[in-house]
Formats: sequence, structure tokens, C-alpha cells
Amino acid sequence: MSMDSKLNELVERDRDHECKGFGPDQVCVRIVAVAKLPSRFGDFRIAAFWNNRDQKDHIAIIHGDVVGAEDVPTRMHSECLTGDVVGSLRCDCRDQLETALSRIGQLERGVVLYMRQEGRGIGLANKIRAYALQDQGLDTVEANLALGFRDDERDYAVAAHMLHSLGIGSIHLMTNNPTKIEQLTRYGVNVSRRLPHLLPPNVHNRFYLETKARRSGHYIDFSGTPHLQEQSDPVIVEGMPGAE
Ligand SMILES: [Zn+2]
Ligand SMILES: [Zn+2]
Repeated sequence: MSMDSKLNELVERDRDHECKGFGPDQVCVRIVAVAKLPSRFGDFRIAAFWNNRDQKDHIAIIHGDVVGAEDVPTRMHSECLTGDVVGSLRCDCRDQLETALSRIGQLERGVVLYMRQEGRGIGLANKIRAYALQDQGLDTVEANLALGFRDDERDYAVAAHMLHSLGIGSIHLMTNNPTKIEQLTRYGVNVSRRLPHLLPPNVHNRFYLETKARRSGHYIDFSGTPHLQEQSDPVIVEGMPGAE
């Protein structure tokens, strides 16, 4: 059966899907629509999910045949409108997303879970309030608190159910953050391997290479301003001290 037919079957299967849910919040998701998504990073399909908790349309960006597959290279990315879309240099989100998409686009199969949790779930306006506080001189630690930095367990429950819905048996998680593996494992995901998430050095991430500040979870831009780490997954640039 073709990948398109398999995915369309999942949409059909999920039409009336209900289960006891994942995690303490009893998160349940349904695949509601799937379409082809050719992109500059390779050929993908995009699957939109409904869930019973946060009214957000979380997305899986799928390359190759993942339904029923094992050891599927997988990346979890948190939405960042300013970084992903506008190319903001206040964060490294776009580099992280593009690296994941281009790596997975070149493999036999893989999936990026694009979680719609702007500013780690506090929303776009609140994230920009935190930026404003930082512009007014708050340090990154205080701005971090204002940003409400936390790992929302519910997001892992949503992600775990999404992988389950896609029939993915086990994943190779692209991450530098072992707690992500612990969290997903807690919700029943079989993480058979960790793939370090490495960015190739280039002119756009020169600021990583020029700072040691990454160790404290922040980085410094060309003008010397420290910025917040917005993904729960500090990035590693190949060739940096600490890179694998
Ligand atoms: Zn369910
Ligand atoms: Zn960002």
C-alpha cells in the first residue's frame, strides 16, 4: 500500500477515535488531515492533528514511509513565529528547525513534530513581553522567569500520542537533551537511540562559535547581547567544544 493510502486510512480510522488518553491530563489526539508537502528541504507530507486539550493544531512533517516503521528519526520542535518565520536572531529556533528538516529530508524516513506552543506555551504576546523586559535591561535569568520557562508535560503526552497515532514503533530522537528522552519514555514512546542534533557551522550561526555562553543556556549575538534559549534543547554546532 502506498504511503498516501496508509495515511488516508489513518484519517479514516481516527474519525471517531477516543481513548483513555495519555498522561495525567488524558490527552487524546486524532489525525484529521494529511497532504503532500514538497519543500526546499525535501519531499514531505504534512499531517494535522486535533487534540482534546489545547485547541492547537499540532503538526507532523513526515518524510518517507513511517507508518508501522521502527527506529524512525524524529525531532520535536516548539513553534517560534519570530524565529521560524521572521528569521529573528533573538533565538536559534530557525537554525534548529531547518537543520532537522534538511537532515530528515535526506534520510530514508523521519518525522518532525511541530508543536504549537509558542514561547513554551505562554503564547506569542507574552514572549514578546519578555523580549521587551530584556530590552529594558532585565537579565536573561529574569526574562527567562518572565517567559515562564518550563517543560510542559502535556506537550510530551501530545507528542507521544501523535507518534502512536502514526503507528511509529520506535524512534531515534534528534536531541541533545536527555530529559526529552525520559519524558517521552514515560509516555510509552520507545526511544531506541539518541541522535545528537548538530548544526553545521556557517555564517548564520557564527555567534554560537564566538561565545562560551552556551554553557549557561544562553548565547550572545554579534552585538554582544545575551539571548534566551527558546527550545528545550540547546543546540550544538559541529566543531565547537562539547560537540560530539
Ligand atoms: Zn486517543
Ligand atoms: Zn525562537
